[in-house]
Amino acid sequence: MKREIYAYRCRRCGELHYPYRMVCRKCRENDHNEFDPEPLPREGILVTHTDLYALPAVFEIRKLGLGIVELSNGVRITGQLRVEEPKIGMKVRGEVEVVRSEMYSDYYGMVFYEA
Ligand SMILES: [Zn+2]
Repeated sequence: MKREIYAYRCRRCGELHYPYRMVCRKCRENDHNEFDPEPLPREGILVTHTDLYALPAVFEIRKLGLGIVELSNGVRITGQLRVEEPKIGMKVRGEVEVVRSEMYSDYYGMVFYEA
């Protein structure tokens, strides 16, 4: 099965939320968890990016590129960026991959590549 990361759409007003919220930020009437999950799209535009150094040992790499990407549905998501020379405004494509491994768990996140 293909892994997905989900956004949550309010059943009352249609506002899309990522990450999950208990109350809709738009209509604020939704306090009964009335959200429908829908997979995040993979295509987006790079909004900004940065490189992190001095990472915790669990990453097992020296440098981590991080980007904020505006996906085609308007949701902004932070993900790892594996692009040689990232440029703001460039098209990127996300894959859902293990971004962190600890003793008993793998954590999945969006990793972005040049589209
Ligand atoms: Zn709503």
